[in-house]
Amino acid sequence: MGSPTTFNDFALDEKLQKSLRVMNYKTPTPIQAQAIPLALKGRDVMGSAQTGTGKTAAFAIPLVQHILSNKTGSALVLTPTRELGKQVMDVIHQLSRTSGIQTTFLIGGESMGKQLKQLERKPRIIVGTPGRINDHLERGTLKLADCGFLVLDETDRMLDMGFAIQLERIFKFMPNKRQSLMFSATLPKNIIQMAQKYLNNPERIAVGSTVKPAKNIKQSVIKLKDEEKYPELVQQLENRKGSVIVFVKTKRGADRLAKRLDKEGFKSEPIHGDLKQNKRDRVIKNYRDSKFRILVATDVAARGLDIPHIAHVVNYDLPQVPEDYIHRIGRTARAGASGEAVCFLSPKDGRKWHAIECLISPEKEGEKGQNNDQDKKRKPRKRPNGKKNRWSFTKKKKQRQKAKKVA
Ligand code: AMP
Repeated sequence: MGSPTTFNDFALDEKLQKSLRVMNYKTPTPIQAQAIPLALKGRDVMGSAQTGTGKTAAFAIPLVQHILSNKTGSALVLTPTRELGKQVMDVIHQLSRTSGIQTTFLIGGESMGKQLKQLERKPRIIVGTPGRINDHLERGTLKLADCGFLVLDETDRMLDMGFAIQLERIFKFMPNKRQSLMFSATLPKNIIQMAQKYLNNPERIAVGSTVKPAKNIKQSVIKLKDEEKYPELVQQLENRKGSVIVFVKTKRGADRLAKRLDKEGFKSEPIHGDLKQNKRDRVIKNYRDSKFRILVATDVAARGLDIPHIAHVVNYDLPQVPEDYIHRIGRTARAGASGEAVCFLSPKDGRKWHAIECLISPEKEGEKGQNNDQDKKRKPRKRPNGKKNRWSFTKKKKQRQKAKKVA
C-alpha cells in the first residue's frame, strides 16, 4: 500500500480536517505519512527526521485527535527551548482553533500568575519546557495523573541541555499507561536507552538520514583568519539578498556583532538566552515580519526556529556540538524552499569542523571517526566551489604543536 496522499486518508475528526484545510496542509510530508497512522493506532513512536520536515504536525495532529476523541485526560509536549515550545503551541492552536480545547504554555521566564490562571481552567493540552513543568508539578499546581499522551520533542537537545533528570521526574508524575511519541534529530545511545525505559515497544521511524542536512541547502565554506571574519561578513551580506541568520558562539558576541552591523547600516538584532522572554518574542516576531534583515543568534535560536523567508545562514563561529551545525543550517530551506549556508572557518576550528564533517559525511570517515589513521588516508576534499583545500587543519595543528614545543 502506498503512503497516504491526502490528510483525508487518515481517520481524523472533521474539526481537525477543517483546520488542516485552513492551514493549507494538503499532502502529508513523509514523516507525517509515517508517524500519523501509527500514532492514531495508539502506538508509541520513536522518530527521527531532518529539520523542516513537518515534524511538529507529525505529532501535533495525533495529539489533537487524541484529545478530541477522549472526553477526559490531557496531553503534554516537552520541548528543550521556549522558542521551540512557542512554535509547537502555535501549530497546536492552529490545529485546534475551532475545537475549544483549553491549552497552557508553561515556560520559564514568564510570570507564574498567568500560568496559574491557565492551570485553574484545567487545560487539556500542555506545552512547556522541563524546568517550569517540574516547578508546577512540585507546587502541585499541575497534575499529570490523567495525562495519557506524551510528546518529547528534540529529545537529544533536551538531554544535551542537561534535562535528563528533570524528564525522569516528570515521567514519575504520569501514568504508566500512556502513549508516548519521542522525536530526536539524532539517536545516540542515551536516547535509545531512554526510549527503552520509558516507551512501550515503540515503532521506529526515520525520514532520510538523521543527520544529513536537507538537500536543497547550498553549503559553502570560507577559510579565513579570525580578524578577517567581520569584513568577510560585511562582504557576504552585501552580496546576498534576503533574510540572514548569523550564528555566533557567545551571548555577548551576539550583542556586539548585531550592534556593529547595525552601525554599518545592516538592520540587525541579537537573540540569545540572556534576553527577557518578552524581548525574545518581540525580536522573533519582528524578524518574522521582516522588520529587520539580520538576526544574530546563539544556538538557542538554532533549533526549531521556523521562519520561511530565511534565505541564508552564516556560521560566523562554529557550534560547540556538531549536531547543532545541522540544526543551524536547517533554519533555511524550510518546507521545500532552497537556501544557502556559509561557514567561516578559522585555523583554530580544525577539530570542530572535522567532527562536523564526520557527522554529515560519515562514509568518508570510516568507523565513527575514531580511527586516527583516517586523517592520513583522507583524500583532499574539494571545496564547494570546486577548488581544493589550500591548507589542511591537521597540518596547521601540527605546526602549532611544534611551535608550542619550541616555546
Ligand atoms: P517543522 O519541521 O514542523 O518545523 O515544519 C516545517 C514547515 O513545514 C512549517 O512551516 C510547517 O508549517 C510546514 N508544513 C508542515 N507540514 C506541512 C504539510 N503537510 N503541508 C504543508 N506545509 C507543511
